[in-house]
Amino acid sequence: MHTFTVDYSTDRPDPRVLVNRSYFASSLPRLIPLCRIRGHKPVVDGYDSSYGNRERARWVACRRCGVRPEPQGHLDPDAWNIGQPYTGPFHPGQPTSETVRKELAARGLDEGIRQPGAWPPSPTGSLGAQLIIGRSPTYGAGFKVGNAGSEHVLAAHIGLGPIGALFLHTEQFGTVLQRRLNPTGYESRVVDVAFHHGSIWWSLWARRNEHRSSDPRWMNGSANIHPAHYLLGPRTNTVLDQTEKTAATVHMPDGTAYDVTVRLEKWQHGRRRGRKTTSWGLDWDCPAGIPVRNHSWKGDEALGGHLPFPDEAAGTPQWAEVACALIAESCARDRAHYNYRAPSAA
Ligand SMILES: [Zn+2]
Repeated sequence: MHTFTVDYSTDRPDPRVLVNRSYFASSLPRLIPLCRIRGHKPVVDGYDSSYGNRERARWVACRRCGVRPEPQGHLDPDAWNIGQPYTGPFHPGQPTSETVRKELAARGLDEGIRQPGAWPPSPTGSLGAQLIIGRSPTYGAGFKVGNAGSEHVLAAHIGLGPIGALFLHTEQFGTVLQRRLNPTGYESRVVDVAFHHGSIWWSLWARRNEHRSSDPRWMNGSANIHPAHYLLGPRTNTVLDQTEKTAATVHMPDGTAYDVTVRLEKWQHGRRRGRKTTSWGLDWDCPAGIPVRNHSWKGDEALGGHLPFPDEAAGTPQWAEVACALIAESCARDRAHYNYRAPSAA
């Protein structure tokens, strides 16, 4: 057995995170009592790639515990179907090194070299965990049952927001479950419940990386769980009113000037049957761009954007001047952020 831990809290210290540490234990003996008593049940495993190269492969694994002989064998895909019991020969004495076996094959000494070798006498597995005490990014819980190609056979997590989170995974351990529940294909299955953005989100035995239109509706979904959503209606943001686009000039503190167009928008926020608030926003464009960075690729200039606009200045004759001052301030902050230096006049 080999164990070690990794302390992540030193990478990015966060006073709200008291512990953020991973624990690993590898080379743990797998018990697999049934296989030890009755012997392994060889079955053909492999894949048929549906991508460009149409690659296919077949090897041998134990139907019950997923352990593979060493070597696992290179069977003929035309002669063996995935999931079929393996009734062919084993070649236990052969070298397990791929290089040595290739060398032997190259010299024509390939008698039985494509057959599976001996079952490993003492198969092992690994366990891993990550513990966060303090602020964690998630609320929710779930587990994963891996596929035939997964490094992590089983995984589970629980996230409790400000309290912390725990993530667990196994390697090799749990192949009994994986082989029973998700034996073929290369899509892991997840059962997961998460809470964020005022909603509950669920996956029930859903493929982890792919959603198909044929999936039943219960497999993935979300529902708003904020009481106000049902009492007062969904939260909306709508533009009530807006000014014409108006030409103006932004004067940067360094004395340079840029032509812009500015427009104010009056926004209303709130729920359909609830209290509403309004705010003003500034929408601006500068086709020539106001330089804010010294690099030489795209994004060196601010070409426009949206800024909050003070209520008291909206509707006054000076609104466009206030808008230009806000744009200048915003660009000056960007310049400070990117450590911009104006090119010296040559
Ligand atoms: Zn077995």
